[in-house]
Amino acid sequence: MDSLDGQVALVTGAGRGIGAGIALELATRGARVALMGRTESTLEESAELIRVRTATQVSVHPGDVTDEHSVEKVIDSVLQRHARIDVLVNNAGIVDQAQFLDIGLAGWNAVIATNLTGVFLMTQRVARRMRTTGGGSVVNIASIDAYGTDGPQASYTAAKAGVVGLTKAAATELAPIKVRVNSVSPGWVHTKMVEEFVTADAMKYLLGKFARVPMQRLVEINEVARAVAFLAGPGSSAITGIDVPVDCGTLSNLFVFETLPT
Ligand code: NDP
Repeated sequence: MDSLDGQVALVTGAGRGIGAGIALELATRGARVALMGRTESTLEESAELIRVRTATQVSVHPGDVTDEHSVEKVIDSVLQRHARIDVLVNNAGIVDQAQFLDIGLAGWNAVIATNLTGVFLMTQRVARRMRTTGGGSVVNIASIDAYGTDGPQASYTAAKAGVVGLTKAAATELAPIKVRVNSVSPGWVHTKMVEEFVTADAMKYLLGKFARVPMQRLVEINEVARAVAFLAGPGSSAITGIDVPVDCGTLSNLFVFETLPT
């Protein structure tokens, strides 16, 4: 297991779900973790869980990834507290489910602002600081939706495809200052969101024989978190500009044969 001892990791959207799991995983590997999100109370809950489970330092920094001034304020406060940022995980994300013909500009703009512009802003501003401390590693949370759509959510698909493109561009330009940039694309993850979204029977199906997915189950949060920790840490020192799907094989399965009439 890659140790992140002595490193400082800033995780966005760390108050719940995948972001909370990533922060816990990085903390378990010895990183000091700084948690960002808009809701202070959920960040505090997440921080408390990390304090109970690990001996590392954890701090909470409320802020909005879509707001340039908020981003600067959060980064300053993380630097005041921990003096450096070695790892940035851009996890914050939202969805706007709407049929293409009905998508409103406000919904479109909100998704692009959070899922794509937020990743740009955080990466640019943190990389400027990483340049002064010898480099670092950025891991963006994209989605298998970067490769195709799943439901009526064109803004989400466009933003996540943008994240994969931005990852390659940033990786190429930031390599000379020793900042690596990669992304992780989760498939359907076992989160509270999915549990609340489907019936108990459907949940049983998703966990046990999810036929669309070669491994026939949901991805667990800690499986995403472990991939992030690998890309954040020294074990991936020659890896930059790639996207790692963590999807139980979903992207490998075209799912055509199974749908033919018998
Ligand atoms: P959740 O909705 O559970 O968590 C999203 C987090 O992002 C929340 O903590 C939220 O906190 C934070 N957030 C939202 N907007 C902002 C903002 N403007 N500034 C700062 N923080 C913000 O989502 P998941 O944990 O399920 O997803 C996490 C990431 O993984 C997302 O990028 C998502 O697209 C991606 N993903 C998820 C999959 C899944 O199956 N769940 C599959 C593939 C990808 P707050 O509202 O307090 O700001």
